[in-house]
Amino acid sequence: MINKTIILDLDDTLYCEHDYVRSGFEAVAHYIAGHSEFTPNHIYNQLIAYWQERGRGQVFDLTCAFFHIDDIDIAELVQVYRFHTPSIQLYDDAVQFLDDANMRKLPLGLITDGTSITQWNKIKALQLVDRIEAIVVSDDLGGSACWKPNKAPYQLALKQLDKLPEQCIYVGDNPHKDFITARKLGMETVRIVRSIGDHMNTRLDKAYEADWEIHALTELIDRQGT
Ligand SMILES: [Mg+2]
Repeated sequence: MINKTIILDLDDTLYCEHDYVRSGFEAVAHYIAGHSEFTPNHIYNQLIAYWQERGRGQVFDLTCAFFHIDDIDIAELVQVYRFHTPSIQLYDDAVQFLDDANMRKLPLGLITDGTSITQWNKIKALQLVDRIEAIVVSDDLGGSACWKPNKAPYQLALKQLDKLPEQCIYVGDNPHKDFITARKLGMETVRIVRSIGDHMNTRLDKAYEADWEIHALTELIDRQGT
C-alpha cells in the first residue's frame, strides 16, 4: 500500500454506476406498473432500451409516452429513482483494496457528488460506513454548488482525516471534476479507468487529468513503498 492516505470517489470508482441506473429503473418500473396495466418487466425493458438508445436524460418521458401513460408526474419518477434503496455491489478489486486497508488499519476518505440521500443510500448499500473513516457527501455542504471541483469537500475530508494535501492521494474516474482541485490543493491524483463507465474514454487537458492511471484499485496495494 502506498504510504499516503487514500481518498476515493464513489461512482464508477468503487462500484459500477450503470448497476445503480438499472436498480433505479427497476424501482421506477414497479412504480409505473402500480399505476398502470403494464408489467414491471415490460416497462423495465423499455426504460433500458431508451437509455441505451438516447442516454439517461429523457428516459422517463419517453417511456411514459411509449405506454401512453399521461397521469404520472415525471418528477415523481425522478424521486422514486433518486430515493430508492439500491441493489449494487462493490467491484471485486474494491473489496480487496478495502479489506487490505482495513486490515492494516489505514484510514481512508471518500468524496462523492450527487443528491445527498441518493449518495448516502449507495454508501449504506455498499456498507462503507464502517470501512471508510472520512465520508464526505459534497451535497451536504451546501447543495450542488459544493460538488467537485469545489474545494470544500476536499478540505473537509482532509480535516476529518487530520492530513495535509501532500499526504493524500485522490482516486477517481472523472477528469471533468475529480482531479483539478485535488491537484491545486497539492494532492497526488490517480485515475481509475474501468471497462464500463460514462467517463472512461474522456481525455482532457493535462490540468484536468490525474498524475497516473490504474485499472484496478488493487494496483494501489501493489505500489507499496513507491
Ligand atoms: Mg465517479
